Amino acid sequence: MDKISVIVPCYNEEEALPLFYAEIQSVMAKMDDVAWELCFVDDGSTDGTLAHLRRFAQSDPRVRFTSFSRNFGKEAAMFAGFEMCTGDYAAVMDADMQDPPSLLPEMYEILRTGEYDSVATRRTTRTGEPRIRSFFARMFYRIINKISNADIVDGARDFRLMRRSMVDAILSMGEYNRFSKGIFGWIGFRTKWLPYENVERVAGETKWSFWKLFLYSLDGITAFSTVPLMLSSLLGLICCILALIMIVVIVVKTLMFGDPVGGWPSMMSVILLLGGIQLFSVGILGQYLAKTYLETKHRPIYLVRETEEGVK
Ligand code: UDP
Ligand code: MG
Repeated sequence: MDKISVIVPCYNEEEALPLFYAEIQSVMAKMDDVAWELCFVDDGSTDGTLAHLRRFAQSDPRVRFTSFSRNFGKEAAMFAGFEMCTGDYAAVMDADMQDPPSLLPEMYEILRTGEYDSVATRRTTRTGEPRIRSFFARMFYRIINKISNADIVDGARDFRLMRRSMVDAILSMGEYNRFSKGIFGWIGFRTKWLPYENVERVAGETKWSFWKLFLYSLDGITAFSTVPLMLSSLLGLICCILALIMIVVIVVKTLMFGDPVGGWPSMMSVILLLGGIQLFSVGILGQYLAKTYLETKHRPIYLVRETEEGVK
């Protein structure tokens, strides 16, 4: 019998969790030809999330959970889920039901044919999202696909069902700066995309502000592309060529027409431009250096405070 592990990162989801649990229970009841394991990861919630999880685990042997010592972020929570799951298949789902559990039977059927290694979901609409956010999201996907060799699909959600082989591949990428959309794309394997309409969360609020998303997108770019580093070389080269041309022009002009002094404004603009380009380039370099610094510390991706073993 196949076993499906459902990984659910939860951060302050006390309102949505009972609804999610009821929904997934009805899906599990329908698919009774497979064994199930629910791997909840409590990402340092400060509300009643952990209490819910303890209660689920006490009454249901299929429920397991890991509770972090603090909030480590969804990426860390997903990684913990992959590490704890034991199924032949694993699915990642949000607790807010934006990833409809009712898609699971269809996804499992597709994987069973053996042609694909994972079935992932892609939302085709962005309803319920501020327009400016959609615009920046689209731009991000366009840029990162140009400059990185990981295939990152626009509108892809983290919700996907995958085979064990793919889970092992993800676990083999032990980097500290985790960007799952890039990791899924980078490892390859055969993925089937299921488009679906965007669903709004059932309860609670999104944990992503515009600023957080913006920083996350920069993380994604530095994690999966080194093109920005080349940018400074390119800018430097362009400046050198421009400067050479200007030198020739000035020398010729001085020889032919003498040297009337009057270059202060143009001098200032050139200094400012060059200074700006230099700071910008050093900044990019700093981003990569910071990431390297964090990686070399080999800090754990998450720390566990409690697991289901405490209540079983
Ligand atoms: N989440 C998490 N840690 C965090 C932020 C979010 O584990 O620091 C979980 C959250 O509980 C939810 C999922 O990640 O199950 C997606 O979060 P959210 O719904 O806020 O993001 P959105 O769907 O708006 O992108
Ligand atoms: Mg959500």
